[in-house]
Amino acid sequence: MASGDEFDAIVVGAGPGGIAAALTMARAGLSVVIFERAERPGQKNVMGGVMYGRMLADVASETWRDAPIERVVVDERVWLTTPDAAVTLGHKHVPHEDPSEPPNAFTVLRVPFDAWFASQAEAAGALIVPGTLVEDVIMEQGRVAGVRTGRADGDLRAPLVVIADGANSFLVQRAGLSRPLEPQEMALVVKEIIALSPEAIEDRFNLEPGRGATIEVYGAVTRGMAGYGFVYTNTASLSVGIGALISHLMRTRITPWDLLEGFKTHPLIAPLLRGGEVREYLAHAIPEGGIRAMPRLYGDGVLVVGDAAMMVNNLHREGSNLAMAAGRMAGETAILAKRAGDWSARTLSTYRDLLEASFVLQDLRKYERLPEIAERRPELLSVYPAILSEAVHEMLRVDGVSKREKQRKILRRVLAQRPWWQLVKDAIEGWRAMR
Ligand SMILES: Cc1cc2nc3c(=O)[nH]c(=O)nc-3n(C[C@H](O)[C@H](O)[C@H](O)COP(=O)(O)OP(=O)(O)OC[C@H]3O[C@@H](n4cnc5c(N)ncnc54)[C@H](O)[C@@H]3O)c2cc1C
Repeated sequence: MASGDEFDAIVVGAGPGGIAAALTMARAGLSVVIFERAERPGQKNVMGGVMYGRMLADVASETWRDAPIERVVVDERVWLTTPDAAVTLGHKHVPHEDPSEPPNAFTVLRVPFDAWFASQAEAAGALIVPGTLVEDVIMEQGRVAGVRTGRADGDLRAPLVVIADGANSFLVQRAGLSRPLEPQEMALVVKEIIALSPEAIEDRFNLEPGRGATIEVYGAVTRGMAGYGFVYTNTASLSVGIGALISHLMRTRITPWDLLEGFKTHPLIAPLLRGGEVREYLAHAIPEGGIRAMPRLYGDGVLVVGDAAMMVNNLHREGSNLAMAAGRMAGETAILAKRAGDWSARTLSTYRDLLEASFVLQDLRKYERLPEIAERRPELLSVYPAILSEAVHEMLRVDGVSKREKQRKILRRVLAQRPWWQLVKDAIEGWRAMR
């Protein structure tokens, strides 16, 4: 491999973040190479997988229409479970029919989606080098000057390296932008793809053909740990998964596999999966540390995007969109740096300014207290679903007891489980985490 500055930028990782950066740069005429460790982009990637149209269209422009979408999400549900019941919340909508506008959200399978997205960057002129592990960054006089790959012809230098290698990025640490992560700053999620006929999916989830549903499941299913389960509909399969903070998995010694088996046999989940055939079993980490655990986002000759930069908003199940938006902004910053002929941190700090002005850092800042509360107070995720479910159940039971007496009974039961001062404390903590 050549060691001169043949390329304006090296991108490490062909996920949504890396490809968005490469595509933006390549379309503006910058020369870009993407190193991807998998033999094919997407092959090693795991995701729930709900993606968001706006961020895709912002990067891919008109070609978003060709993306391999599974189903357009029209029904989003949240279930707060006990071992045998759930309080359900949700939102349904009729999707718009404007062909020029992308759908708000849709499900994907990462293998076809990433391959398609990478092909867009390739068509724009980026060079994708798959099957190549980047083993290290090359540091020269305190700046990132290139990467060391596992290839026989090894090192490649460029004025910019975009680190987009996903969760728990060791390259970010090697570039001196971050410390090693703590177990409470990462969740482990296991997921199965379960084949089911489109007709069975549409019947069970009450969907029109081509339309999809998502269910996020909190409460009893995570067995006292901070996390959640999910069921998402694809065209002819379901994505079913569950995860929890690594610190909680270590403390409880519950294996992710046990957690998934328990989830699949929950009496409200099992009927949705009945008769389905497990096609794939996957496990992956999700960054959970939020903005307080974020690495430095830029340095001399380097930018960090997506999961490598902790850009995940777990409460809203958003990560791919943050990665794509950040990738696009990294690309735009590179275009400025190329014009200025200056790849130092001074010019590359524009990336941070763009992120600050966008939903990416604004949303992560809004929820900056959430990771700490999730780690310290996981019981909140099981106590309140149970209280709520019991209360709703009581009010709905027709047994000759007056509704006012039922209200008193519910209050007595709630206070027996949680004294009033604890309820007030929880409410204040919850409000501060979400406001
Ligand atoms: C189970 C699960 C469910 C999720 N569900 C959702 C969801 O429904 N909606 C949503 O928006 N987000 C979801 N996310 C989060 C979302 O997947 C990520 O936020 C998103 O993929 C981040 O994109 P990225 O490009 O930063 O990283 P990734 O998608 O992880 O891509 C990183 C790429 O870098 C490559 N790579 C890594 N190291 C190297 C190396 N050293 N050299 C070369 N290549 C390397 C990897 O192979 C990979 O292709 C989920 C995540 C998980 C794990």
